[in-house]
Amino acid sequence: MDLSKHISSAHKTFSVWKKLPFRERQKFLLKLAEVLEKNKGRYAATITSEMHKPITQSIAEIEKSAGMIKFYATAENVLKPEKIKTEFTVSEVHYDAMGIILGVMPWNFPFWQVLRFAIPAILAGNVVLLKHASICFGSGDEIENAFAEAGFPESVFQNLRIGHDEIREILENPLVRGVSLTGSEKAGGTVAALAGKNIKKSVLELGGSDAFIILEDSAFEKAAKEGPWAKLQNTGQICNAAKRFIVHEKVEKDFVPKFIEEYTSYQPADPMKKDTKLSKMARPDLADDLEKQYKKALKNGAEIILPLERISENEFRPGIILVKEGNPVLQEELFGPLAILMVGKDDEDILKLANDIPFGLGNSVWTRDKKRAQYFIENLESGTVSINKATSSDTRLPFGGAKSSGYGVELSLHALKEFTQIKTVVGN
Ligand code: NDP
Repeated sequence: MDLSKHISSAHKTFSVWKKLPFRERQKFLLKLAEVLEKNKGRYAATITSEMHKPITQSIAEIEKSAGMIKFYATAENVLKPEKIKTEFTVSEVHYDAMGIILGVMPWNFPFWQVLRFAIPAILAGNVVLLKHASICFGSGDEIENAFAEAGFPESVFQNLRIGHDEIREILENPLVRGVSLTGSEKAGGTVAALAGKNIKKSVLELGGSDAFIILEDSAFEKAAKEGPWAKLQNTGQICNAAKRFIVHEKVEKDFVPKFIEEYTSYQPADPMKKDTKLSKMARPDLADDLEKQYKKALKNGAEIILPLERISENEFRPGIILVKEGNPVLQEELFGPLAILMVGKDDEDILKLANDIPFGLGNSVWTRDKKRAQYFIENLESGTVSINKATSSDTRLPFGGAKSSGYGVELSLHALKEFTQIKTVVGN
């Protein structure tokens, strides 16, 4: 592929797009949201055929994406110049668009992840190139077509059907000013190093192994009902899914049977059927990795609560393992239908277990006691803490990780500033 042709076309569009007023750019977004709503059945079918997500969850992904676009289409302009009081006649902070921004995106939410990054970047006046996961090029094409159908100028958003080896050439091009990657630590580290070498801004949204903490004074029946969804939605392939269920020893006996009962209601089935809650994993090699991690956990002392049963090359009956501190599997992300159960003896012990991992995306704490909740809010090392609810991203609120889960902010009005250049204007 002639990348320089795409980059120069994007640059030409950037020089016009960045000059449009914020309100004018927002009008295009409203149309894009309408296009998504109109075509949601087709887009959802593309998602399910490419990465096997149950169809109702693919539809929900398109609906959530359309809602997010509407949020930005009607958002306050936080990018207008800010006046600062000084002794000078003029002292202002301006937020200039940066230019061409590359998105390197994964397959787990083929529309949502792309649009979550692209929409605020584009509304801020940038233009976007997409390098999608190689199993989701069809979704990438559909997104590019949706921008065209919504009437956006050509090359505001371009889908490049390229392998990850070509990212280097894009980031070495001086017209490309930043990159946002969602995916594994390995891909994130590689792309961030390339960006750093070329002095370009990067945003990383990587893995997680979030805790779902159930204290003995909580509405644990509700937690037992919501927990399996928090883990098994999208067949367990979500960065901020609940991956480790850490239960207070005083409620273990009441919580665990209820949790297992709900958990076993998730069994793999045809992803195109409306009542299917669990499906195949996205690729056979990802299923191989999960099976290896399962064996490694068992070898290091984990106990089987529910066996992880492989029933086809990328399909499992979901499993649960009881894991103790020190098991090396705790330092990894389990990206699939295998949950970890841990037992803690008090709040301090539970906090220690929760934080003792390389990641920190979105922990969830269940308690009726505000003071105990506050203790966890202040001490959990993660980008989000949810209280008495499962963690999920919300367009209105910032989303991002701590530690090896990445850096930078997505969603909310904060994301509008991620790919802008702050320019100080001062004088008389
Ligand atoms: P990757 O991180 O490999 O893929 C995500 C994106 O990065 C894709 O566009 C991919 O392109 C690209 N990429 C892959 N390797 C490189 C590289 N060396 N340099 C630059 N870009 C690269 O995810 P996988 O699909 O392999 O999944 C592996 C694990 O990553 C999962 O098990 C999970 O732990 C984690 N993951 C986390 C996600 C999240 O939401 N945070 C989403 C997906 C995965 P290409 O497809 O062409 O290789």
